[in-house]
Amino acid sequence: MPRLSDRVNTFTDSVIRRMTRISDEHGAINLSQGFPDFDPPKVIMDRLAEVAYEGPHQYSVTYGDPNILDAIGRKQSKAIGRQIQPDKEICVTCGGTESMMATMMAIVNPGDKVMVFSPFYENYGADAILSGAEPIYIPLVPPTYSFDINLIEEGFKQGAKAIVICNPSNPCGKVFTKEELMAIGELCIKYDAFAVTDEVYEHLVYAPNEHVYMSSLPGMWERTITCNSLSKTYSITGWRLGYAIAPEEVIEAIRKVHDFLTVGAPAPLQEAACAGLNLPESYYEDLNKLYTEKRDYFLAGLDKVGIKHNVPAGTYFVMVDISDFLELPQFKGMTDLQFCEWMTINIGVAAVPGSSFFREDINNLIRLHFAREKATLDEAISRLAKMQDLLK
Ligand code: GLN
Repeated sequence: MPRLSDRVNTFTDSVIRRMTRISDEHGAINLSQGFPDFDPPKVIMDRLAEVAYEGPHQYSVTYGDPNILDAIGRKQSKAIGRQIQPDKEICVTCGGTESMMATMMAIVNPGDKVMVFSPFYENYGADAILSGAEPIYIPLVPPTYSFDINLIEEGFKQGAKAIVICNPSNPCGKVFTKEELMAIGELCIKYDAFAVTDEVYEHLVYAPNEHVYMSSLPGMWERTITCNSLSKTYSITGWRLGYAIAPEEVIEAIRKVHDFLTVGAPAPLQEAACAGLNLPESYYEDLNKLYTEKRDYFLAGLDKVGIKHNVPAGTYFVMVDISDFLELPQFKGMTDLQFCEWMTINIGVAAVPGSSFFREDINNLIRLHFAREKATLDEAISRLAKMQDLLK
């Protein structure tokens, strides 16, 4: 057979999504790939049923149907405090995943340096490879996941063209403060670089933490590309709807890439999702309350059985420390991936190994998510309690 491209030899499939397959195969409780096990808002499902008969069923405008562009424009203009022009400054994509990939393809030339925090959401690794970017990793140091701003300045001095900021941060749950974002923003301005943000967990920020939009900071609209998604906000991860927001010139470039990558996001789903985007502010307050309760409930459960974890300020992920297990003779020398596979098969709870997020050689952290009904979280905790018994 002729040789495949060198490009695909440099990365593996997504471990997050692989863990879902392993979990399904063994009938485990899937706390690996983050997605909810509950329904989207009823208005969205009702609208989907209507759209089944009303249409559209054919291609939408490549960059997004005018209805969804307007709805996103309205919602996000309010959020960032700036009038976004839906016809020029938004591109609707197939999930946040495509918005990030199309952004990287639109702003990066092969060999350009791009800063990425570590741990990072694993897609960014593949995005960098496929766009030809050379990543410079900036450690977010556990357990607080703080970073050294001097390393970022160093990265810009080495010529980094952009910095990718996942805020709130997958997998570590960090929420960047306004001061941190201002400091990064000032460097972007000083070194004339882009800030690429992934804000798909914007509504899952737990009090007293607050979400600050990079694009809302002084001088940052001009150089920020905000990647976002409807997946988490409306519990519709399977619909694959996302978008990028940026100044017109940048969006023009992203739209070109998007046009040839996917032509467009599913037209009927774009139409039905408008029912979600048009929900009142109280919807987001309720969503936040729901996830705050889930977080507190799940963390209390982990505490009760003595499992060590961080306290996420945002997202629905929690990092669990498995160091004590790796000391036991039966786990000695195991990688975190092997541990996660063992845990899925023998404990019946699937997690994502931390090594799929960290650039550093870190083997003692795994990621769980809590976007699950309480009864499922209860069952997961009681299974994890059995695992904890191994330490007694
Ligand atoms: N963001 C989710 C996670 O990290 C999954 C997203 C995806 O698989 N596209 O688990």
